Amino acid sequence: MNMTGTIKPSPSSDLQNFVESRSGQKVLRCYQCGKCSAGCPASYVMDMGPRQIMRAIQLGLREKVLESSTIWLCISCQTCSARCPNEIDIARVMESLRWLAAAEKSEPAEKDIALFHQLFLTLIKRSGRVHELSLGALYNLLGRHPFANMKRLPGMLARGKLSVLPPRVKGVAEIRSLFAKVKAMEKEHQKREVE
Ligand code: SF4
Ligand code: SF4
Repeated sequence: MNMTGTIKPSPSSDLQNFVESRSGQKVLRCYQCGKCSAGCPASYVMDMGPRQIMRAIQLGLREKVLESSTIWLCISCQTCSARCPNEIDIARVMESLRWLAAAEKSEPAEKDIALFHQLFLTLIKRSGRVHELSLGALYNLLGRHPFANMKRLPGMLARGKLSVLPPRVKGVAEIRSLFAKVKAMEKEHQKREVE
């Protein structure tokens, strides 16, 4: 994405302050070397690479960042974090942006991607692992595109890529308690932000 000519730096860097406090990362340490973008396995589908996201945060380009597809297409693989010469955990930066975008109900560039994320997490919480068939069915129904990707279904079932029955996972209670812990931490964090 070419941002030349579209950059209007924000005088107050609320976005940067938020990201730094939420993620614990020093955004200003980024000197735009581009090692994060070069290693990112998902950058080819993103509208802005991780390097551009870092720069946009520095410049306070709130809407551009929160409405980008990047923050939702990031798969949290942490390759960028491992490659950054300034030890910035960019994956955590992305996570803080997703949180903010969801809290502000920003319209993501990638249609229904927030729905996909919510369903993914709901299924993990319910059974400890994602059941892809349920994920696809719920995503299609709730996203109001009931027949999307249906042509792929028979082939995937035939090759054993999709299982009809939901997975059986041990320790689901433990996974649910992790979700509860994260929720409690978020509440605590929000409380501290208000104080
Ligand atoms: S964590 Fe996200 S931004 Fe970083 S390399 Fe992985 S997919 Fe790309
Ligand atoms: S690797 Fe680090 S310093 Fe380099 S562009 Fe990415 S965030 Fe900035």
